[in-house]
Amino acid sequence: MTAQTTAPHTRELAQSMISCVVPAYNEHDNLGLLLPRLQAVLAQTGANWEVVVVDDGSRDATATLMSAWTQNPGFRYVQLSRNFGKEPAITAGIEAAVGDAVLILDADLQHPPELLPKMLSRWQAGVDMVFAVRENRDDESFGKRLGTKLFYSLLRSSRGVEVPPHAGDFRLMDRTVVDALLRLPERNRFMKGLYAWVGFNTEAIQYVPDARLHGDSRFSALTLLRLAMAGLMSFTTWPLRLVSLLGFLVSICSFGYGLFIVIEYLLYKNPVDGWPTIVTILLFFSGINLMSLGVVGEYIAGIFDEVKGRPLYIVRQSLGKPFKNSKS
Ligand code: UDP
Ligand code: MG
Repeated sequence: MTAQTTAPHTRELAQSMISCVVPAYNEHDNLGLLLPRLQAVLAQTGANWEVVVVDDGSRDATATLMSAWTQNPGFRYVQLSRNFGKEPAITAGIEAAVGDAVLILDADLQHPPELLPKMLSRWQAGVDMVFAVRENRDDESFGKRLGTKLFYSLLRSSRGVEVPPHAGDFRLMDRTVVDALLRLPERNRFMKGLYAWVGFNTEAIQYVPDARLHGDSRFSALTLLRLAMAGLMSFTTWPLRLVSLLGFLVSICSFGYGLFIVIEYLLYKNPVDGWPTIVTILLFFSGINLMSLGVVGEYIAGIFDEVKGRPLYIVRQSLGKPFKNSKS
């Protein structure tokens, strides 16, 4: 295999293009406030810029809002054909983005756009990926925090890939990082894992997430659980190994028990105990069998999904163009 190299490009603000990718699902009210704020921040940088709003199948007035905004240079709108989920929406966004640096931020104003200049200065200093780490999770419920903790400790065992906890999709990436991400072919896009997998020179900066302005989180507890499972399955194989280990341990135990029965019979002429033992053991092992099949099944389902090779998302329409300053 030959290594793919990307041509060096400028990190001089006046000559570079900054892209902001905003996945949005029913965020009409929030977008109306976010876009002016983003515009103000971007105008101050003096760079060329674009804001790519990816409409993940919204059923509110997002399309109307965006067809007005895309009249101004700098605002772009990519509408997906249905709701594909946040991770495909982000992929659609970074695929559409043309910038030398790409910022990803939520539409719900939890990610303050005012952090951009700080991120850009780190990028100019040579950092390839600047990710924002939440200073606290006080805004989240106890259950969600506990689940997150458990998830990250389970994930930690994945080989060689260190996924930093408390970091989300809010990050600024150099073009080389974006190109690397786009080369990853998998359809199960556990983005936090992929960001870590591609490597590069990364740096964290702290931020305090604002409260979601309008509407509720688009992720229910069940969706989060499903995402966590998918993430674990795509980045770890320990559940499979756990199943083998369990099988091994159970075999040893049953061998020991068998030996015990034989010895007991030979030494004490004890008749072997009757059906309660048999029923209990049978049920116990059927349970373990089914569970193991389930774990293997999860991986097979993952493989099936990848093998189908369907596109990650379908674009219905895309509007608007980037803003170019006079210096470039
Ligand atoms: N989002 C999306 N598609 C979805 C769900 C969410 O594009 O199917 C977007 C949503 O509009 C928001 C971002 O992803 O801009 C984060 O979603 P949310 O605020 O609901 O998640 P949380 O902050 O609770 O993690
Ligand atoms: Mg949010």
